[in-house]
Amino acid sequence: KLRNKGEAEFHQTIEEVLHSLEGVLVKHPEYVKESILERIVEPERQIMFRVPWVDDNGNIQVNRGFRVQFNSAIGPYKGGLRFHPSVNLGIIKFLGFEQIFKNSLTGLPIGGGKGGSDFNPKGRSDREIMRFCQSFMTELYRHIGPNVDVPAGDIGVGAREIGFLFGQYKRIRNSYDAGVLTGKGLTYGGSLARKEATGFGVVYFVNEMLNYHNQSFQGKRVVVSGSGNVAIYAAEKAIEHGAKVIAMCDSAGYIVDENGVDLEIVKQIKEVERKRIKEYVSRKEGAQYFEGQKQIWTVKCDIALPCATQNDIDINDAKLLVGNGTTVIGEGANMPCTNEAVQYFLEKGLLVAPAKAANAGGVATSALEMSQNSMRLSWTFEEVEEKLKGIMKNIFAVSKDAAEEYGYAGNYVVGANIAGFLKVADSMMSHGVI
Ligand code: NDP
Repeated sequence: KLRNKGEAEFHQTIEEVLHSLEGVLVKHPEYVKESILERIVEPERQIMFRVPWVDDNGNIQVNRGFRVQFNSAIGPYKGGLRFHPSVNLGIIKFLGFEQIFKNSLTGLPIGGGKGGSDFNPKGRSDREIMRFCQSFMTELYRHIGPNVDVPAGDIGVGAREIGFLFGQYKRIRNSYDAGVLTGKGLTYGGSLARKEATGFGVVYFVNEMLNYHNQSFQGKRVVVSGSGNVAIYAAEKAIEHGAKVIAMCDSAGYIVDENGVDLEIVKQIKEVERKRIKEYVSRKEGAQYFEGQKQIWTVKCDIALPCATQNDIDINDAKLLVGNGTTVIGEGANMPCTNEAVQYFLEKGLLVAPAKAANAGGVATSALEMSQNSMRLSWTFEEVEEKLKGIMKNIFAVSKDAAEEYGYAGNYVVGANIAGFLKVADSMMSHGVI
């Protein structure tokens, strides 16, 4: 804590992961002897840089760029870029640390990393976004590569931003390294189903968990926080599985539609027009809008899918949800529930699908995009989706098995942490003291 002063989110994830590894350390004293924990919490490398750019009024703006290359024991660093004014080193480190275990859980050869900037894309023109991305990549390019570090999208970074970043990388390097970024457009090396993968994957994972406990999505009331990439496709797949999505939000407020949220309207507002979720009520009869994103957890639901951002559900929200009869939590965002909230859910017997496992479908499909780029071919949507489904089933199975083996049956939070950790720890052991 002294070494990483003020990095609250990073401390939070470290605390959560290390607690769940107590049983592993008893069974594997060699990890203690080789200081695996001391090494795994320290990023291999962290890069911070200036990002100067010129806005549409001719004014110079200066932002800060980050890339944390956390762990490359099982493959090149892999993890998204977040553009949001709240971004700081502690947030990127928490995301990078979680990425190590998530990527390990996919069963694919990818290490953990994360990056981003405190740049706020809201209200910026396409040209401003382009100039920012070009300046960001003018520094980042020297640290990444298809076998080194492969960034992708996250909050505030979608296909538009990845396109600008890729264009600048290609221009500087004079090399068509398609596999240097994932989440690319379909015309230049992107993978079908990548856009949908994180949200779809969340629902595949939760569905596996429900089936294992003789339950299903059928007829369930679902609340999804957020209305971005993860939220939209989690909602879409939940509806396909027979659920009714009652509420969604953005950072300003939430909508409630008791007839079931119409995702075509949400996609038009958020993906095409880049407007606020508030617009929804003027386009759908009977829907209501309320200011204040947090209040979304007052809406009664069977299944809650927090898909917006970290610490979205605190202990008070958790009590509200449990009081209202919620029995299942599927984490679509990274660390959307505080540690206290997760503990409370588990104590009350809820089924919790932890983010590291449940939202790993996005990065898994990014790794499939890298495979297609290496082979110089493209799989169909159905092929990619089938692979994604198989990966999510497997992640549930290994998380369940690890939980059972270490005496935590039914606790998929601990199970996922253990299963993700073991492979990385064993690889680090093999590589010697580095
Ligand atoms: P988007 O930028 O597409 O959407 C984020 C959504 O969350 C928006 O609706 C945003 O509202 C809302 N939001 C509410 N409060 C906040 C806040 N304080 N900070 C930021 N956003 C807020 O991001 P994604 O859907 O890609 O990411 C959502 C979560 O999923 C993040 O935790 C991310 O790390 C995680 N994730 C994403 C993956 C991916 O493939 N994209 C993969 C794995 C995890 P508004 O529009 O008002 O800002």
